[in-house]
Amino acid sequence: MSFIVAIDGPAGSGKGTITKLVAKDLGFITVDTGAMYRAVALECINQGVSYTDLDKIEKILENIKIEFKKSGENQLVFLNGKNVSEAIRTPEIDDVVAKYSAIKIVREKVTPIQRKMGEHQDIIMEGRDIGTVVFPNANVKIFLECSLEERARRRYKQNLQKGIDETYEEVLESMKERHKLEVEREISPFVKATDAITVDSTNLTIPEVVETIEKIIRDKMN
Ligand code: C5P
Repeated sequence: MSFIVAIDGPAGSGKGTITKLVAKDLGFITVDTGAMYRAVALECINQGVSYTDLDKIEKILENIKIEFKKSGENQLVFLNGKNVSEAIRTPEIDDVVAKYSAIKIVREKVTPIQRKMGEHQDIIMEGRDIGTVVFPNANVKIFLECSLEERARRRYKQNLQKGIDETYEEVLESMKERHKLEVEREISPFVKATDAITVDSTNLTIPEVVETIEKIIRDKMN
């Protein structure tokens, strides 16, 4: 039986960074489920398919191939054979991804793929519905919280480093809207699993969050 750690948290809570560090220390494989929804959104946009056009989205989902490939310390995301690791992390995708991820057929396609990834290997999977829907029986469930202002500040700084030109206010507004869509959607809304442990990263450094989460996992493994 594989050991499964579910980390759910909002955009900018540090999920990605923290998951990678914890996985490296404990020898787990990581899965960034948000990247899969981002890849679906990117493919729809590339093909000019709106989130309202369910017939066309269904066609796209029939043939879509999303893969993760390790490259040194990084995990690259491939969409139909093409490396889209950067293309899925633009403000344009940030603004539309929650519209596509709220669609039933999109989640019906992606969720089983995620479950399969946890069948034979120890994993840390991060997203919004991992502890509630994808792995309701996960060995450890973490709910990573962080204030909206701090999340926007972090994303704004990340964007600056990447050369993305967006003001702090624009980032804040986009995050707020995305969050609203995620918590209010009918299917797999972003909510805390009743048995998840909350870790609030607002006033913690990255090493502090890593240490806190590793302790929770180690206690459970022993
Ligand atoms: O984690 P990240 O911000 O990259 O996720 C991108 C988007 O994918 C989220 O805004 C959300 O709409 C969707 N998502 C989801 N369920 C997950 C992971 C991400 O709906 N498990």
